[in-house]
Amino acid sequence: MLHTHLDQSSAKPLPVVIIGNGPSGICLSYLLSGYVPYVRRGAVHPNPILQRKLEETPEISILDQDIEYLSEGLEGRSTSPLALLFDTLLRPDTDFGGTADSILSWWHQPDRAVPHLVLGKNLPGGAWHSIEGSMFTLSQGDWMGLPDLQFKDWMSRKKRGFRNNRSTAGDIVQYYQYYVAKKGLKKNFLCGTFVASVKNLGVDAVYGNPGSRDRGCRWDLPEKPMDDSKDIRTLFQVDGFVTTINGTQPFSVYAENVVLATGTYDSPSWLGVQGEDLSFVHHKLSALEDAVRNKEIGMMSDPILIVGAGLTAADAVLFAHHYNIPVIHAFRRRVNDPALIFNQLPKTMYPEYHKVHQMMKEQVSSCPGLYESYVSLPEHHIVSFTEDRKCIFRDKSGHQKVYNISMAFVLIGSNPNLSYLPNNGADLAVDCEQPVSSKRNPIDVDPFTYESVHEKGLYAMGPLAGDNFVRFVQGGALAVASSLLKKANKNPP
Ligand SMILES: Cc1cc2nc3c(=O)[nH]c(=O)nc-3n(C[C@H](O)[C@H](O)[C@H](O)COP(=O)(O)OP(=O)(O)OC[C@H]3O[C@@H](n4cnc5c(N)ncnc54)[C@H](O)[C@@H]3O)c2cc1C
Repeated sequence: MLHTHLDQSSAKPLPVVIIGNGPSGICLSYLLSGYVPYVRRGAVHPNPILQRKLEETPEISILDQDIEYLSEGLEGRSTSPLALLFDTLLRPDTDFGGTADSILSWWHQPDRAVPHLVLGKNLPGGAWHSIEGSMFTLSQGDWMGLPDLQFKDWMSRKKRGFRNNRSTAGDIVQYYQYYVAKKGLKKNFLCGTFVASVKNLGVDAVYGNPGSRDRGCRWDLPEKPMDDSKDIRTLFQVDGFVTTINGTQPFSVYAENVVLATGTYDSPSWLGVQGEDLSFVHHKLSALEDAVRNKEIGMMSDPILIVGAGLTAADAVLFAHHYNIPVIHAFRRRVNDPALIFNQLPKTMYPEYHKVHQMMKEQVSSCPGLYESYVSLPEHHIVSFTEDRKCIFRDKSGHQKVYNISMAFVLIGSNPNLSYLPNNGADLAVDCEQPVSSKRNPIDVDPFTYESVHEKGLYAMGPLAGDNFVRFVQGGALAVASSLLKKANKNPP
């Protein structure tokens, strides 16, 4: 089945290849599979201006309406107008604590489907596969749901409960896999595929420039252009490796449009200090879980070092605390720095993170307190790691200290891995001189189509395009699907 898919797709260019099978890729696959959103008859949106606009053309699907006009003036917790639009259509009053149903109803119109392939390293679910299953989300559980299958309904069917409205990463990943199966999307997904390169073969390739054929390309030219408009069409070659029970083999597919949805969690950030590549220094939380499971560390070991003051570092502290493993926790900021994430989270919803913050404040090395096996080192920099498992620190006065440690976990954020693009994708970023980063330098896309402003036919969505939360990545899917449907001339007459 898998091979048939790749064999067929390598022979003929596909209209769309999506790279990445997390929430972004799944949501887009749903929209491209012919599921079309209309305003539910009789539904009233609580925003009167939006409601008035929606009443103008109720018979036209949201995908075919002027989504720029609909999204004008919307405000909320995202800077993307389409993220706000789709979110408010799906969860109309959620920011005011309400639980009103979506005002959309979904129609399956298979003739409007756009053939596409979703490639991803793991099973559908994206970054949620690499988060420890028992970890609770930062967001409300409801905000993790995808269109037309409420997460809370799935949870109650599974007899699973929320804690403070939050859910576990394990439940979320199961829900995403269920979603793909339930919505009949499985046939579009090729899991176990690692994309190693995406090449733009240029415009000539599409129109059958003899030179490009002579170079040994293997596709048949489409009889009728997907796009009848005057837009220039390009062709992309996507190469990589597919792993099945029979082993790993190279593959090559051709596509008229490529959507980058590979997220930003694949390359953990490094401190860049001496000894960081030693075997006891790790950069993923999962390494701590493995070490505990394999009994490499325990309550009698030398302390582990956790570096960082974000939520992943806090999760590591909680995990180690749960297993009574001694911890040294080092971070660069002051404990009362207003920019620390803990100072932005309401105490009632996130008691565990506030406990970590309290430990960070109260357990500084100079005055040990309640939690014997935890030491906090605020405003400390790591100088180096040595082969005999020592870590050298520098405090804010410039004094150096040395601690024996059993293992180190550097959890200071992550970066996208765009090594499959020329120049690691930097040419596509807002600032082409800097590496792509979700927060500081996302891929530069048109806000209403999510097509790259630098390269036609290339789209980016999710954290790569600056949308960092699951509830907001879905607006990118609406934008891309609406643009691709227009290109494919699949708008109704
Ligand atoms: C610890 C943690 C906690 C989080 N908590 C929340 C939360 O509470 N609420 C919330 O809304 N969001 C949260 N997020 C963010 C959330 O995970 C992302 O917003 C969401 O997963 C983005 O979806 P995506 O599909 O764009 O990317 P991802 O989920 O990152 O999926 C991209 C997929 O593409 C794959 N991929 C990458 N490169 C390639 C390649 N070359 N070939 C093939 N496949 C590739 C990746 O392995 C990955 O599986 C959290 C993230 C982390 C790391």
